[in-house]
Amino acid sequence: MGAKVVLVSITRTWSAKQQRALEILIRLKQLYPEAPCTLNYQTPVQLLVATILSAQCTDERVNKVTPALFSRFPDAAALASADLEELESLVRSTGFYRNKAKNIQAACRLIQTEFGAQVPKRMEQLLQLPGVKTANVVLAHAYGINVGVTVDTHVKRLSYRLGLTEHTDPIRIERDLMRLLPQPEWENWSIRLIYHGRAICKAQNPACQACKLAELCPSANLPQLNALTPSVATSSEERRLSPS
Ligand code: SF4
Repeated sequence: MGAKVVLVSITRTWSAKQQRALEILIRLKQLYPEAPCTLNYQTPVQLLVATILSAQCTDERVNKVTPALFSRFPDAAALASADLEELESLVRSTGFYRNKAKNIQAACRLIQTEFGAQVPKRMEQLLQLPGVKTANVVLAHAYGINVGVTVDTHVKRLSYRLGLTEHTDPIRIERDLMRLLPQPEWENWSIRLIYHGRAICKAQNPACQACKLAELCPSANLPQLNALTPSVATSSEERRLSPS
């Protein structure tokens, strides 16, 4: 059977697709029962700062920088009044460090003056803070509030390969996933798909033979798998993830 026929038969109705998405989610939970946020933090402010630093940078690199940063400047008040040059030197290795340091300080000043020294809990307020691009992550992990599905490069690639979206634009992908998955699972989905993308379904040479999702995946073992791999780093969302 040709690849296209498999894809069509497996996604022929929206409810079938929804059912399959739920089965994939159940398996992902079995595969990655503990799926904590990959950024290290102690407080909502520290998570917010870590997400600002993670733009165009790996979480591993951010986690190397934040212990010294949070030891020196542990909260919004300290970051708001930090010496900017010292702040820059502490975050330098995450790249774009001048913008990131400036944004962290400006965000913390706003938190102090406009939001009662607390990271706000509403999306539109969070997005007022300079440098904040991934408000979904902050709301879900800091407060347990699911307002959207985070679509990074792994979520984009895997959702496409799994036949849960036909789009390559993250905003449209997010819309599709929000229709398919129960709201309390939105961030669960993203974090577990990121784990799976790193471990098994890599951009190049995905390990379909070892993949526990293979029987639910229309792309499993396709020789032309790269044909079902959306291009990376060209979408509006991924541009939004660059530091401004
Ligand atoms: S079967 Fe292959 S393409 Fe599908 S999710 Fe698993 S590794 Fe990725």
